[in-house]
Amino acid sequence: MARYTGPSCRLCRREGQKLYLKGERCYSDKCAVSKRAYAPGQHGQGRKKISNYGLQLREKQKAKRFYGLLESQFRSYFEKAEKQAGITGENLLRILETRLDNVVYRMGFGSSRKEARQLVTHGHFTVNGKKVDIPSFIVSVGDVIKVKEKSVSSAKFKEMTQAATNVPNWVVVSSENLEGKVVSLPTREDIDIPIAEHLIVELYSR
Ligand code: SF4
Repeated sequence: MARYTGPSCRLCRREGQKLYLKGERCYSDKCAVSKRAYAPGQHGQGRKKISNYGLQLREKQKAKRFYGLLESQFRSYFEKAEKQAGITGENLLRILETRLDNVVYRMGFGSSRKEARQLVTHGHFTVNGKKVDIPSFIVSVGDVIKVKEKSVSSAKFKEMTQAATNVPNWVVVSSENLEGKVVSLPTREDIDIPIAEHLIVELYSR
């Protein structure tokens, strides 16, 4: 699956806020958004009046970038969300949250979604005892995500688990066993990313 390979900090500067794409660096004074709080490029510091369409577009771009997705993948999630019962915007966020790479990040096994995706791709996790190396795998209630036996000895995982402080209440993590269980699906209140999802729905409904 194609992915963005350019500089991560540029994406945050474009959206004018931290997207937390680089792990610890995002919490330090080296963060590019803290140092240069304006959009990148020659005209980044110019004042621009933003249209309704512009607002909707920026919200969609921000959501895509938070989860590290490209347009076609994001669009297909939206189409899936539209077909589900309930509120499309909330369905979309729930689908994005239940991607395996995001769940691994939420459980504290990766310092950023990007790192979590890499760890999944490298085959370090099992879901219900079976190796899964597909970051877009959608987890369900009751699924147990565990660091693979062969990867357990890695000091990296131990450090990461110890640092897991912000685990959402829809997953339960066992640090000793290096595993986590999905106990419910996330509701809108559980998803703490600052996205106005109704703007994305408006954009795609044009
Ligand atoms: Fe974004 Fe993190 Fe870079 Fe800051 S350090 S600009 S939050 S990726």
